[in-house]
Amino acid sequence: MLRFEKLYSMGHEEVIFFSDSSCNLKAIVAIHDTTLGPALGGTRMWPYKDEEEALEDVLRLSRGMTYKAAVSGLNLGGGKGVIIGDPKKDKSEALFRSYGRYVESLNGRYITAEDVNITVEDIEHVFQETNNAVGVAKVHGGSGNPAPYTALGVLRGMEACLMKSNNDRSLRGKVIALQGVGSVGFELAKLLNEHGAKILFTDISDENIARMKGQIPNAEFVKANEIFTVNCDIYAPCALGASINDETIDKLKCKIVCGAANNQLKEDRHGVELKNRKIVYAPDYLVNAGGLMNVSIEFEGWSDSKSRRMVDSIYNTALDIFKISDEQNISVNKAADILSERRIESIAKIKTSYLGNLGHRFPGRKKRD
Ligand code: NAD
Repeated sequence: MLRFEKLYSMGHEEVIFFSDSSCNLKAIVAIHDTTLGPALGGTRMWPYKDEEEALEDVLRLSRGMTYKAAVSGLNLGGGKGVIIGDPKKDKSEALFRSYGRYVESLNGRYITAEDVNITVEDIEHVFQETNNAVGVAKVHGGSGNPAPYTALGVLRGMEACLMKSNNDRSLRGKVIALQGVGSVGFELAKLLNEHGAKILFTDISDENIARMKGQIPNAEFVKANEIFTVNCDIYAPCALGASINDETIDKLKCKIVCGAANNQLKEDRHGVELKNRKIVYAPDYLVNAGGLMNVSIEFEGWSDSKSRRMVDSIYNTALDIFKISDEQNISVNKAADILSERRIESIAKIKTSYLGNLGHRFPGRKKRD
């Protein structure tokens, strides 16, 4: 059962259950913190075993979005949606339109987008019912596929890590061990190739391996379990979370860990262990924020150059985080949390003492006719 103590301890403002038996909609939206602006975060569809599991997930993910938006300098809060169901069997236009009506009922406090198992087509149905959806197709004023911007953010993160460890941000000649060449990993490989880096890559999808071999023939394939042990400058996790764990951490021969995957550290203490081993770790929720930055500017009129300019800021923010980590002798993941919390606290003070208006810095999408 959801208890207020839990919401107090995690800092959530609101949790809403949406149900519509006509289309079998069972969804939960969690709004974590709207100090900086409306809560933005994707909706995930997953066959959760029960409401409890779905609730745990949405509480954890929405909190993560608050930190990601804050550290990225966005005027957005953190929120997330989960739809309980099997994405292979339970999707329908009615379900997503019903969900869209509920999102609309939140009057802009929550803005949704794609997450695991939610496609642009699904979001287009949501968008039929609410303006508070991003990640819509370019033909409808959206920003399209976020992967190239996420990949650019990871590249900027790598440059910041290199600056920290070598006093030179250049990727030329550096060896990158790339785990996962899906949407983001493949875009990142293209950028790394253009920057003169040498790529060792792995994946478990034959199709994605073949695409790499066909389009980036310089890149060298290694077996999935060898990616941790290869000699390299940077290990780039772009597949699943928790790849830095008790089993892998001793095998790493890299000087830097920087990739797109969410929650790369199995536990926070692995961030401390990376620091003890003098491996520079790029905070995952900062360096993979390019996709969020990209969708956030749909409201003001998306453009490629605006998006790239914003994503480039990841370089300087990463350097700021490294500075906090060094000054306070704490792990980089802890330092990223501190930078996020500092920003939220400082803006909260302005809001109450002077501006008094939550929404004006984020005008929302212009109403359609
Ligand atoms: P994706 O599903 O397109 O690609 C993931 C790739 O990893 C696939 O090719 C898959 O075969 C491979 N993979 C899975 N398990 C593996 C393993 N054990 N070893 C090697 N390869 C493995 O996903 P994506 O959109 O590229 O996202 C990659 C990661 O980045 C995810 O953790 C995601 O949450 C995170 N992320 C993505 C975005 C985005 O814009 N797509 C934004 C922020 C964070």
